[in-house]
Amino acid sequence: MTASAPPVPASAPRVAIIGTGVIGAMAAWQLAARGAEVLAFDRYGRGHDRGASAGESRIFRTAYKEGGSYVPLLRRAGELWRELEAVSGRQLLTMCGGLTIGAPEEPDVLAVRRCAEETGLPHDILDSASAARRFPQHRLDPGEIALLDPNAGVLRPEPSVQGALDAAEEAGARILSYTPVEGFEETPGGWRLRAGGETHTVDHVVLTPGPWATALGPSAAIPVEPRLITACWFAARDVPAHRPERLPIAIRRHPEAGFSCFPLLDGVAVKIVPHHLGWPVIDSPDGLPRSATPEFAQAASAAVARLLPGLVPQPVRIGTYAEGFTPDEHAVVGPLPGAANATVLTGFSGHGFKLAPVFGEIAADLVLRGKTEHDIGELNPQRFTQGA
Ligand SMILES: Cc1cc2nc3c(=O)[nH]c(=O)nc-3n(C[C@H](O)[C@H](O)[C@H](O)COP(=O)(O)OP(=O)(O)OC[C@H]3O[C@@H](n4cnc5c(N)ncnc54)[C@H](O)[C@@H]3O)c2cc1C
Repeated sequence: MTASAPPVPASAPRVAIIGTGVIGAMAAWQLAARGAEVLAFDRYGRGHDRGASAGESRIFRTAYKEGGSYVPLLRRAGELWRELEAVSGRQLLTMCGGLTIGAPEEPDVLAVRRCAEETGLPHDILDSASAARRFPQHRLDPGEIALLDPNAGVLRPEPSVQGALDAAEEAGARILSYTPVEGFEETPGGWRLRAGGETHTVDHVVLTPGPWATALGPSAAIPVEPRLITACWFAARDVPAHRPERLPIAIRRHPEAGFSCFPLLDGVAVKIVPHHLGWPVIDSPDGLPRSATPEFAQAASAAVARLLPGLVPQPVRIGTYAEGFTPDEHAVVGPLPGAANATVLTGFSGHGFKLAPVFGEIAADLVLRGKTEHDIGELNPQRFTQGA
């Protein structure tokens, strides 16, 4: 259950959630805790690794290169992560701090700095010599800087999804795994769905299909491209030096490479997600390639050899995942255009995990109250469908 629930409407609506990745799982938790009768469907099992919400670790950061308008959402997300930890009895978020490393004029470094300055967030700017002393795990070139955000950390995706679904179930939700929703029919005042050979009648649908958005009838018009994101794990020579106690999460920008870097959680290896090799579009997440090409692995190894001297530059493990990207790389969150009683949350474009609990809260606000106090104007689905 949750402590932060606004009042429940007089008669609890019956709500179907389509997709129980992290966004649907959080929506299920928030809606069920606020008294809705929730049916949550997924084509795969709880916490599966074919979509966007798996792979051991996720970055939480508050000085946000994507814009200062996210800062209030990030602050609320931080509170809700703690609430979910309390409710689920799981450790989900470790605040190890976060680094953005690169040349001072590099666009992402500038954007993080601007966000921190404009929103008054605490931060430290380390020159290359002091960064090398404090964080020798990273090799900086002369002239590069590291911006340290103390309000950053590492999230654990698998227990987060499991924890939110358990909390939803405890609050009365029905979680229907391996049950793809195949048919949607809008009815006066609600929807009729076909899933797993059964028909379900609900008052409202919440569409949280992640990278499957364009394959799902009602959200097919929203431009969400499924793309492949590959993560690689490299063994640490000095294990304690790479644990979250000593290694913050990092976003590294460099002329030869760019990657996100995650502290060691499994006792063996540090994860990097290369950015500079691109995130190729795939036909469908169902056809996700399950391994990287040798060229990709070699390029990731070269980036590690150049910039992370404490790691053995040969991957011990590689994981492939699918994520849905919109054209402006901001999510789509709000009432589904052209339909009544439908809310859509998709297209998180590689940065939705940290915000998932607040998006769950927003979904519950929109379903139960028809509005939210959170500022989500820039995420309005109509920016892509108007005039279409
Ligand atoms: C490798 C990688 C690294 C990332 N790193 C970060 C990070 O460090 N920090 C951060 O904040 N974000 C990060 N992100 C982004 C973040 O993880 C995603 O934005 C987030 O997980 C999106 O979740 P989702 O629920 O929208 O999608 P998904 O997790 O893909 O869930 C969608 C679900 O819908 C289900 N579904 C689809 N169609 C149907 C249907 N017809 N019927 C039933 N079920 C259906 C699917 O089976 C799936 O389970 C990363 C993403 C990836 C892939």
